[in-house]
Amino acid sequence: MAEVEKRGERTLVPTEWTYAPAPESTEIVRLRDAYGLYVGGEWLEPSESYTTLSPSTEEALAEIGQAGPEEVDAAVTAARDAFANGWSALPGSERAKYLYRIARILQERAREFAVLESMNGGKPIKESRDVDLPLAAAHFFYYAGWADKLEYAFPNRRPRPIGVAGQIIPWNFPLLMLSWKIAPALAAGNTVVLKPAETTPLTALLFADVLRQAELPPGVVNIVTGDGRTGAALVKHPGVDKIAFTGSTDVGKAIQRELAGTGTKLTLELGGKAANIIFDDAALDQAVEGIVNGIYFNQGHVCCAGSRLFVQESIYEQTISKLKRRMATLRVGDPLDKNTDVGAINSRMQLERIQELVESGKDEGADIYQPPCRLPEKGYWFVPTVFTNVAQSYRIAQEEIFGPVLSVLTFRTPEEAVEKANNTPYGLSAGIWTEKGSRILWMAQQLRAGVVWANTFNRFDPTSPFGGYKESGFGREGGLHGLEPYLTFDSSEPWGG
Ligand code: NDP
Repeated sequence: MAEVEKRGERTLVPTEWTYAPAPESTEIVRLRDAYGLYVGGEWLEPSESYTTLSPSTEEALAEIGQAGPEEVDAAVTAARDAFANGWSALPGSERAKYLYRIARILQERAREFAVLESMNGGKPIKESRDVDLPLAAAHFFYYAGWADKLEYAFPNRRPRPIGVAGQIIPWNFPLLMLSWKIAPALAAGNTVVLKPAETTPLTALLFADVLRQAELPPGVVNIVTGDGRTGAALVKHPGVDKIAFTGSTDVGKAIQRELAGTGTKLTLELGGKAANIIFDDAALDQAVEGIVNGIYFNQGHVCCAGSRLFVQESIYEQTISKLKRRMATLRVGDPLDKNTDVGAINSRMQLERIQELVESGKDEGADIYQPPCRLPEKGYWFVPTVFTNVAQSYRIAQEEIFGPVLSVLTFRTPEEAVEKANNTPYGLSAGIWTEKGSRILWMAQQLRAGVVWANTFNRFDPTSPFGGYKESGFGREGGLHGLEPYLTFDSSEPWGG
């Protein structure tokens, strides 16, 4: 608001509304120039390193270790020692205390983590502050509650920890994926070697400081940074008892091939191409908010993003015009500005992948709409995009774009909606918008998706299992289901021995 004008005696009215940014300060974050690998409670100097960037400014933030097979081996050895020398035998109530401490420290240091997440990953501060951090803490609180109740969670099955868990996570929710993985593993009595994504290692490295503050015994959690080669070395390591992976379907398949026949337990949380289905009786303004949240939240870097919109034909024109009007209000830009709705694309590589798929959509004949939008000069950006006139065979309707790009298709009957929604190799999530409860239940039964939201989208809760069908992977994270992959059960002694 630039100036005010006095009208009458009482009100001050702005003569002009201009945009006033509300940047979050980065003062709270103390970055080191270089980070080592967190192994056995110590910082191990890496033999190689690379530079991590801010995707919104392209500035270098820090030097990060690139762990090779020997360093991965040191981390697995530290985890094995910690498992054998006390952690696995610790009473659940003692393990719970550590998890509660971690949860509380994350809450106390939430602002620092949120700012760092937005600096390194590019996501809007309002999302890292209001979604990622509260949920990350909630996962530790939730699994802390189970640590001393495993016998009740799995009655008469004698649950025991597995050993060393190797965990590989992606760049879209760096700290949140870390907590989805680490919290259940520790609650169950395992130790961990975690590999963050190459482009977003900083919150995982700051998390090592939380572990120090919580006085977690050395070696219980080890963090090895690096690119895909570090992940591959972790998968190949014979001392790892379980691999938990979140990422692309191609890498997931490669890991599955690598582990076939080894006896190493595996869970895979892979890509998605979710259907968001709008019926003509839906509360349309709410549905439009759900569409926007479904695909533009976190720049569309969401495995369960509602990237295929199915609109019932009778409300097609109305929905698209409301959607376009709403898209024009989205603010794209500086992730640290509290007003920003859509931040930076995570990396140049991901930006190029989005651009390539968008070009394919244009070439195949879909109509593109992008609201007018001024993008910052530096950094990686993509304007929120919607494609209409899309055929099911187009690549933009088949492949995971993992960016702020929506493909719109239509349907006439619920049966047609189900048929089209299920016409994908993926099966991670889906959304249904209708006033009819019976239709929600019927649709939810027909849709081959691990999570089905009704009259909402992209809602997460630590008590609720999350995971996919088909090429979206197998195994569940969250809830009781999320504990099971980290336990082994003694079936040889019926009724608990
Ligand atoms: P990746 O599957 O390559 O990355 C996920 C994690 O696996 C990262 O930590 C990565 O390391 C690591 N990794 C890479 N190669 C190997 C390997 N051979 N063995 C073990 N670990 C490995 O995803 P990308 O970052 O390349 O993204 C590509 C596409 O994947 C995206 O466009 C999107 O479609 C999809 N994706 C889906 C996600 C989901 O949540 N379902 C999350 C991320 C991506 P590094 O970061 O160093 O490469």
